[in-house]
Amino acid sequence: MGIKVAKFGGSSVADGIQLTKTKQIIEADPDRRYIVVSAPGKRFDGDNKITDLLYLCKTHMDHNLPYDQVFQVVTDRFMAVELNLGVDVNLQSHFEQIKEQLRKGCSADYIASRGEYLNAVLIAAFLGYDFVDAAGLIQFDSKGRLMQKETDEALRSELAKHERAVIPGFYGTDAADGSIKTFSRGGSDITGSLVARAVGADMYENWTDVSGFLMADPRIVKNSKPIHKISYKELRELSYMGASVLHDEAIYPARMANIPINIRNTNHPEDPGTIITAEQEETTTVVTGIAGSKDFTVIAIYKNMMSYERGFVRRILAILEDFDISFEHLPSGIDTVSVVVSNKSIDGRLDELLDAFEKQLNPDTMEVFEDISLIATVGCGMSRRSGVAASLFTALADADVNIRMIDQGSSEMNIIVGVENKDFEKAVRAIYNAFA
Ligand code: ADP
Ligand code: ASP
Ligand code: MG
Repeated sequence: MGIKVAKFGGSSVADGIQLTKTKQIIEADPDRRYIVVSAPGKRFDGDNKITDLLYLCKTHMDHNLPYDQVFQVVTDRFMAVELNLGVDVNLQSHFEQIKEQLRKGCSADYIASRGEYLNAVLIAAFLGYDFVDAAGLIQFDSKGRLMQKETDEALRSELAKHERAVIPGFYGTDAADGSIKTFSRGGSDITGSLVARAVGADMYENWTDVSGFLMADPRIVKNSKPIHKISYKELRELSYMGASVLHDEAIYPARMANIPINIRNTNHPEDPGTIITAEQEETTTVVTGIAGSKDFTVIAIYKNMMSYERGFVRRILAILEDFDISFEHLPSGIDTVSVVVSNKSIDGRLDELLDAFEKQLNPDTMEVFEDISLIATVGCGMSRRSGVAASLFTALADADVNIRMIDQGSSEMNIIVGVENKDFEKAVRAIYNAFA
């Protein structure tokens, strides 16, 4: 018998109807032995994700506002599912424990993690699988960094005791004090990948609400072409740049253990979805996918004879380090270098940052473009083809999109352009139409 790890995202476990589909999928293949679950997601447009409601409880708490009503919406949803599925896990006692922690002023990470926790308890009972808590197994150091080796060993030895188990996604614990610590949003994908690696799975299945990775975000490009096969490398570029189907940090553990990842649709289990492996597909298509996100700032620094000045870029990086800002890109030309950072990381300190650049770099001029979107066009086939960049720029020019920045990755697997936020969707569609 083989082993498959199956992770089910928020919409796949949002209510009784979705959980019935999920159970059918799991029972259709006895290899699906380790199940990782998200908190219940949206059931329909305009619905709330349980995780968002839990964060909202914390926000209310921090502002000394009553949070009971919001928490009630959470408990009502879980109770409806318990009733609907005909299981009894004594949810009330779990709610009491959580309320007790809320009264004591628990952390945002703790309260946010309870969506996954409660859902895993319920789903384990529904499937007749063991519940194995991620707390104490997935471990973080004092800086919030995942402790890979310790986590791998702890998961491995615990899961070896369970033939079949449900594990809550998204969180683990601080190894030093045992407090709950979450990954960033969408982090249940990472839990799934860590579990797959620990149990030596033959496949990591990631069940969601789309039939695999599409060439572009379906919310921007309607009827976007599906990608049947893609390499870990290409996928990492696309998910890092904003294709939210799979958390970008979820690729590393599976990739290390050479475990293929299969993105599947819970609502269409007959669709094969996307397979992600180490191999690069021998394909005639040049571009595999397009992904991007909004809200970056580009600071273009010009200085005559910059290229001769020793340590210029090092000084830029030192300033960014002082501000605790990580840069996204640093394209350079003769006498110019552009620093691309997310608006979020600048966090309202743009003037201070420019001031530091001015004083410490003494540039001739600086130009700032705020509210920029970055779009990556990715494909292993790109390096073998000429004229890709020309087609891309022509497509953008024809669509009347101004390009604020260009960065061609040294891997020759991607071209990244910066455009104004208002042109983001238009630009993605123009690139898609040029290559699909
Ligand atoms: P889950 O809750 O199952 O983890 P997510 O919402 O995190 O699901 O990811 C699936 C969503 O990702 C899709 O519904 C789709 O809107 C979005 N998405 C963005 N880019 C892409 C893409 N290139 N291909 C497919 N889906 C994409
Ligand atoms: N529930 C968490 C979130 O909404 C984690 C996840 O779904 O992967 O971000
Ligand atoms: Mg997700």
